[in-house]
Amino acid sequence: MNCIFCQIIKREKPAKIYCEDKEIIVFSDIFPRALIHLLVCPKTHYLSLMDIPDELLLGLFKKIREMAKELNIEDNFRVLLNNGALSGQIVEHLHFHFMSNAS
Ligand code: AMP
Ligand code: ZN
Repeated sequence: MNCIFCQIIKREKPAKIYCEDKEIIVFSDIFPRALIHLLVCPKTHYLSLMDIPDELLLGLFKKIREMAKELNIEDNFRVLLNNGALSGQIVEHLHFHFMSNAS
């Protein structure tokens, strides 16, 4: 499959990886639109939020909460999901944008 995020997960493409575990990887957006702009992705390729198991959805949001704590921005971050090409999804591998302008 020609998916750029799968290639990052397999280390076939470079990325600035913030953290990863068995199921989730977080790396910097290549064109950041905030001081902190990370992409939170499941390691398994899913196109849409409608496709992912509930436990994985919970895992992604737990990771987001963990990151907010680690980065000390619990009260100053945004989460964005473009779900579907019509909404502006360009990369067809589900990902949450995690953004903050906290410095
Ligand atoms: P979306 O419109 O939600 O699909 O957003 C895709 C995001 O992926 C954009 O913010 C891009 O800047 C980002 N992106 C595309 N290619 C890469 C890459 N190779 N490494 C990191 N981020 C990327
Ligand atoms: Zn993929």
